[in-house]
Amino acid sequence: MDKCPVCGENTKEVAGAIEYSYQDKKLLFCSLACLRIFQQFPEVYLSESEDEISILEDSRA
Ligand SMILES: [Zn+2]
Repeated sequence: MDKCPVCGENTKEVAGAIEYSYQDKKLLFCSLACLRIFQQFPEVYLSESEDEISILEDSRA
């Protein structure tokens, strides 16, 4: 995953990207601020993208 899960920033273009292990996943955050936000609501950011995808698919049908 090359994008910050919190803000969507491309972490390959960020000099101080922070690697963080959550459960079995390795995540990259663009900044400590985004990591802190993720740590408060990890489920929100891990499940939201899947929900978004299914919502987009449903709305096109
Ligand atoms: Zn970020």
